[in-house]
Amino acid sequence: MIATRKRARAKVAQAKPDRMTTTARRRATTRAAGVEPIRYQVAMANPGRHEFQVTMRVPALPDRPHVELVFPAWAPGSYMIRDFVRHVYGLQIADERGRPLDRERLDKQRWRVASGGAAFVVTYRVFAFEASVRTSFLDESHGYWNGTSLFFAVEGETRRPHDVAVEAPQGWHVSTALARSAAGSYRAASYDELVDSPVEVGTHARLAFRVGRTAFEVALYGRTNADSRRLVSILRQVVQATAAIFSGSSGGFPFARYVFIIHALPVGSGGLEHHASVTMDITGLSFEDEKGYVRFADLAAHEFFHAWNVKRLHDPVLGPFDYTRENYTRMLWFHEGFTDYLANVIILRAGVLDEKGFWRWIAEDWPRYATRPGRLETPLDELSFEAWIKLYKPAENHFNNAVSYYEKGLWVGMALDLELRRATRGRRGLPELFRWLWDRAQHREAIVTEADVRAAARAVGGKSFDPFFERHIHGTADLPLPALWRQAGLSVTLVPPWSEQAGDSDPVRRARARSWCGAMIEGRPAGSAERAFVKNVLPDSPAEKAGLTFGDEIVALGGDRVNAATFARRLGDHAAGTAVTVSYFRRDRLQEARVVVGTSPERKLLLEPAPEAPAEAVAIRKGWLGLPARR
Ligand SMILES: [Zn+2]
Repeated sequence: MIATRKRARAKVAQAKPDRMTTTARRRATTRAAGVEPIRYQVAMANPGRHEFQVTMRVPALPDRPHVELVFPAWAPGSYMIRDFVRHVYGLQIADERGRPLDRERLDKQRWRVASGGAAFVVTYRVFAFEASVRTSFLDESHGYWNGTSLFFAVEGETRRPHDVAVEAPQGWHVSTALARSAAGSYRAASYDELVDSPVEVGTHARLAFRVGRTAFEVALYGRTNADSRRLVSILRQVVQATAAIFSGSSGGFPFARYVFIIHALPVGSGGLEHHASVTMDITGLSFEDEKGYVRFADLAAHEFFHAWNVKRLHDPVLGPFDYTRENYTRMLWFHEGFTDYLANVIILRAGVLDEKGFWRWIAEDWPRYATRPGRLETPLDELSFEAWIKLYKPAENHFNNAVSYYEKGLWVGMALDLELRRATRGRRGLPELFRWLWDRAQHREAIVTEADVRAAARAVGGKSFDPFFERHIHGTADLPLPALWRQAGLSVTLVPPWSEQAGDSDPVRRARARSWCGAMIEGRPAGSAERAFVKNVLPDSPAEKAGLTFGDEIVALGGDRVNAATFARRLGDHAAGTAVTVSYFRRDRLQEARVVVGTSPERKLLLEPAPEAPAEAVAIRKGWLGLPARR
């Protein structure tokens, strides 16, 4: 309801017709130049209390005797209702002379203020103690906010300019994509831009690089064992490889300035994309080998690709947003899954990952997906629609009955890439599909529906790919990726992990790797192996047949004590076909089950360029990797 422009376009617009009309009319009047902004001041006088003090000044709105203030319930890019208003305290609403105004709380996040059309001032405190990309955090070492967790909106006035003044402790500096005004505050053209421009404030390191005429800034907070020069050079490589997809060698970005806010934390939680910036929470002390840098590059590539896919090319529901409730989209396979896939292509083309690494990535991740029981239960568009209640609120059985649209969308993206290349002798694929959409949008923000993606596939591939979309977006057909890899000139072999081909030269270990029961074990406390709990039981597995279920604590196998680290090893003591007694606690009661040990259905994927691949296949493979067509 805050983003009323969206409602005007959406099918649900009839919900509150009079409000819509008034708002639309008022919009037209406030769009004129010289409109007074809504002003915020964010202070952090006592960081150790983890509270931002916000003062908000709403200008006179002469035709509105009542004004509604609304607090967001979610952060775009993260599809879960978080009810940020639960962290708001001390709300005071007064006129400019400090006299309290009558107000009525209409629901958990909405207040109606009797302002009589005059300017008024809102003050409140926000408890900020959740260190994630989606929320706000403040302590003695730094402050960070993602605007949806900090700022009230004024209903119907979201397209006004919004100004923020930051009152930071001595010695702290500010990093944000928002432009700085002459008065020293930060200016957003609208509420949407305000909350789409996170702010980092503290003593973080500030690094910078340029690509063409575009300035990139890096705000690096926290403790890391990474070489920060290497991080910056990876960001530059990723930025260049991504730009090459959207604008070829001409370069060019849809922003003049872009900010990477990076939090190096004990445990990183991923990234959140914004219009001209990104926040990435990484595990600071995880750069002990090359893999740490590849992980960083992969995250950066995913988030930076979002600057186009989802921030500028997006489902109509995904901007401007209704911040007060779920915004349902069926397009997250495209916005997230395809982004996740192309991040890997980008880091390959950027030179962070080499070709061998690319094959290794597929070989390691595909078997996990291909044996996941829940992957064929629900069509991808539906998985996207129910993100709010399934992926973001996974129940114990999620693994068995569902799959993430990131994971499945990634493989569908790869399959579409390869199908497109099959149709074009390797010349065009998924990157060219995105280029086509971006060119059609004339390099500006534009709506993308599934019909547009299908049209792009048709234009890029020279034929209809509708059956592909029916099978893999709306249907649950298994993906023909192994066949597509062969057609791209790869040799594809799936072998049991205990076979000699799988690469383990130890015959004893190989023999023991056959034993399997279908129980997935996790250690508790989290991250330790101290105690072994059943995290999942695969459908129809020996463990399920024996009656084990989520949360059972396994204490012994065949009378031998086990923990999370030794469970698989002790299971290996029992050959496939034999029965073993499993001792476990269900809640606080010691019980026993008789598990008939099975043979592991797991497979290892061996993937490498086939030496004798036909020229046509080699062309597909080279196009896929972004290599020149000639051998
Ligand atoms: Zn994403």
